[in-house]
Amino acid sequence: MINTQTPLRNKLLILIVDDNEFIRELIKSYLAPEDFTFIEARNGEEAITEYLKNNPDVVLMDVVMPKMNGYQACKKLRELSGSYSLPIIMMTSLKDDKATSDAFDAQATDFISKPISRPLLIHRVSHALHIRDSELQLQAKKSQLAASQEVTGSGYFEYNPITEKVLCSDALYSLLGLEKKDQIISLAEFLLLTQTEDRETVKQAILKAAHEGVAYLLSHKMVGAEGLEYIVQHQTIISPIGKTDRYHLLGTILDITSTKNKDILIEEQQQFDTLTGLPNRQQLEDRLTLWLTQSDQREELFGMFFIGLDRFKNINSSFGHHAADNILKSVANRLRAHENEDLVAARFSGDEFVIIAKQLTSNIDVEAIAQRLKETFAEHFFVEIREVFITISIGIVTCPLIELDEKQVIQNAESAMFQAKRQGRNRHEYYRDEIGNQFNKRLHLETNLRKALDNGEFEVYYQPQVSVHNRRIIGMEALIRWNHPELGLVSPDDFIPIAEETGLIVPIGSWVMESAARQTVTWRDKGFGLLRIGINLSAKQFQGKDLAKEVADVISKTGIMPPSLDLELTESAVMNDIGRTIVILNQLKEMGTQTSMDDFGTGYSSLSYLQQMPLHTLKIDRAFIMNIQPDGSNGEIAKVIIALCHALGLNVVAEGVETEDHMKFLSKHECNEAQGYLFSRPLPAVEMEKLLYSMTTHVEENMTEDFLF
Ligand code: C2E
Ligand code: CA
Ligand code: CA
Repeated sequence: MINTQTPLRNKLLILIVDDNEFIRELIKSYLAPEDFTFIEARNGEEAITEYLKNNPDVVLMDVVMPKMNGYQACKKLRELSGSYSLPIIMMTSLKDDKATSDAFDAQATDFISKPISRPLLIHRVSHALHIRDSELQLQAKKSQLAASQEVTGSGYFEYNPITEKVLCSDALYSLLGLEKKDQIISLAEFLLLTQTEDRETVKQAILKAAHEGVAYLLSHKMVGAEGLEYIVQHQTIISPIGKTDRYHLLGTILDITSTKNKDILIEEQQQFDTLTGLPNRQQLEDRLTLWLTQSDQREELFGMFFIGLDRFKNINSSFGHHAADNILKSVANRLRAHENEDLVAARFSGDEFVIIAKQLTSNIDVEAIAQRLKETFAEHFFVEIREVFITISIGIVTCPLIELDEKQVIQNAESAMFQAKRQGRNRHEYYRDEIGNQFNKRLHLETNLRKALDNGEFEVYYQPQVSVHNRRIIGMEALIRWNHPELGLVSPDDFIPIAEETGLIVPIGSWVMESAARQTVTWRDKGFGLLRIGINLSAKQFQGKDLAKEVADVISKTGIMPPSLDLELTESAVMNDIGRTIVILNQLKEMGTQTSMDDFGTGYSSLSYLQQMPLHTLKIDRAFIMNIQPDGSNGEIAKVIIALCHALGLNVVAEGVETEDHMKFLSKHECNEAQGYLFSRPLPAVEMEKLLYSMTTHVEENMTEDFLF
């Protein structure tokens, strides 16, 4: 029973060509009449006529016939049918190889020898129809393909494992920028179009598909005109070839160069920091995992150096993001110079970098690396033509590589880095468990900070500022404290940075300003005189909404005398937008308040700007006071700043005054005021009031006098 049917007819039409009527009748009787209808021809010429008239599904063709023999007729039919899909089965009584090869030369589909056996005939016809159907399907696929390929910019090729030839489509060549037309080439020639390194893979895939019927989907590179590389997606459609155990292979090739390049780019971006080109955090973690899996030496020592650039925010706000980016790039280059097989640098985030090292032999190695890293920064950086020095704080974790926990090690190294910053920066610190606890505290603080203001957990402390000349209290600085319900008193150094990051500093700062102003007015009303109150302003408050209006509101709400209000700004807060700074400072000046430059010497303000700003006071950062020796050494910077203030007509306050030697030095160099533990630590309002009171008992009735230490 033959199942194959053409969709156009109910029964398949068979053209039987034989000059022998008996044979024609025999064939008809062999093939089931329910499946076929028949037309007949007695020679080649008639066969052609019948073909043109009836377009049969199968032709059974005798070889030796008058007028036009079977081979000639077969060839002619092939020309006319224009494709290989018309099955032509030659019926030959010549049982030699020559007959067979002649049949195929004439492009017959198959042959059957006479005398014809019935089962064989049925089988051959059925088989020929099957091939025809596959070919028709293939052709349909090809034309669909051609249409879709025109749209997608892809091409195709066919590989026939029997002939071992490849037919490349026109579109495939033009995809590769080659001008060749459809061409039949050898498989080896075809493989030359693929990139050398992919050639073997492609070859194996094609052979496996053609010999075992395993379809594939590959993406690989091809080489086109002028050696240009194309990334292609290469896929097959396979169909069995007749009775053979081979498969016809139709390969489609799609140019995905641009998408692939994008993928690669995205992949690279996922792995590398775009600014510095260093591996990013993701790759850092991957690298650690890789090292871990490779490591088989239990005792191999691993080290992580977590590097934080000190006060980098100041660079950002003083010179702008562009300059800061350039410095980050230079930093990356300096770190990269340390790299080798066992030492990898990465950018962790903003101004944080990480170095990981393996194959360390002892802690001496670790110290040496930390030392080298610090030395890397001894050289200044350039911002345009200005020299800028940057120091680093390093947090270090070491452990046997085998014991490493990737996530934990990063967290521990980071917390050790924070500890190094707290210890005064420009130093390295090893991770210890208690540091970890502090780090966790920080995370804990972040979640609690939001509720702290509503819960009334903040308190303002006051630290007196005295005249160097006569040690009388001239003013005080308001310093915030957080009474955390579980952790107790939290230092502003621990929570102000978090408040700044989260923006909470704005409402917190407003609260401090108003509370401190109110307290100052209370003390004035109690008769302690006109005290000046220093209020720390964060850059966010300064840059944010209308500062002048907020200050005016506080003045009118609390009744504080404007000259008592001393707003402390840092260099980084004002350098961000110098034009705007000057406008705001002038607004404040018009209201009659005072302004101080806090932590002077740690930022990057330029002298010319300093001159243009309507300031009252410079506060020398305590870093320049604390280390002044009894003989006055280490005091050079303080000396210069004091002289500068005199030259600019500014009041100058020294912070962090802890000893009488400091005072001697300040007195000698005519610093105006001092603030520090020598006189008092910051005190709660009640304590401060006691202090003020105790001072007044020394000073007769005159309450407007300053208070004396
Ligand atoms: P700051 O403005 O430089 O304040 C001076 C800091 O030096 C205070 O630290 C003070 O306690 C400390 N100090 C004073 N005298 C000495 C001394 O003799 N030796 C030493 N070693 N330290 C001394 P505190 O109170 O911990 O505040 C730290 C920083 O937190 C302040 O530095 C300021 O930048 C910030 N801060 C404090 N309160 C506020 C606030 O209300 N708003 C804002 N934005 N920042 C605040
Ligand atoms: Ca201050
Ligand atoms: Ca300060």
